[in-house]
Amino acid sequence: MDTVTPSLQAPFVIANWKMHGCYDTNRQLLDGLHLSSGRRSAVTVVLCPPFVYLSQLQELLDGSGLALGAQDLSDQPHGAYTGEVSAAMLVDCGCSYVIVGHSERRICYGEDDESIRRKLNLACTVGLCPVLCVGETAEQRQQGQAYQVVGQQLKALQEIVGAPYLVAYEPVWAIGSKQACAADRVAEMHGFIHRCLTQLGQTEVAVLYGGSIKPANAASIFAVAGVDGGLVGGASLQADDFLAICDALPAGA
Ligand code: PEP
Repeated sequence: MDTVTPSLQAPFVIANWKMHGCYDTNRQLLDGLHLSSGRRSAVTVVLCPPFVYLSQLQELLDGSGLALGAQDLSDQPHGAYTGEVSAAMLVDCGCSYVIVGHSERRICYGEDDESIRRKLNLACTVGLCPVLCVGETAEQRQQGQAYQVVGQQLKALQEIVGAPYLVAYEPVWAIGSKQACAADRVAEMHGFIHRCLTQLGQTEVAVLYGGSIKPANAASIFAVAGVDGGLVGGASLQADDFLAICDALPAGA
């Protein structure tokens, strides 16, 4: 198992392909991304395809400067867990990042904070950089619970000492909604997350925003203080849109 050292160089743009793609369209998308030029080399770009395409992307990304990540991992290290994929297997497929605790996993598959805590620790054990997703639902925000919810979700990180990780603030109501979170709210929540991380003894963690980032709104989101890049779902499936989002990062962000 060769480990791939994750870059911790902010800014980051992470593509979450979710359950989309096939061999042909993946290749076309990658062809589109390879045509890129300019200052993208200043951005750490990570592609997270479905598990079954990790090996295909490992090959296609060779020498590209783009990194590979997975969308999830098992909360067990190995054993009789049918259908699961372990942290070590992800490293074997060339991953250096893994998304953990995405709201679609929390909501659709009942993933709880305890399982997320185990996943984070397992990822760190094998040298993967986990990207912990946190964020409140619309109902929780309406009830004034957004900060309490996010603060609680961040506690899953408290056992991680000395291993790198990233955090993505993804308000659930903004994901796939065409309506990104307003800049002032992003600024407030990112400030809160950075303060929580400082309390955990972590001052250098990059905090990304995710939720309906598009070429049209990317520059204004990335200009918000405390935003160190983006986690991009839908718009990461179109090469032109994804590249425009990467290009929207301010120089030296
Ligand atoms: C996501 O699912 O992580 C996400 C940010 O999706 P979208 O960009 O489509 O809102």
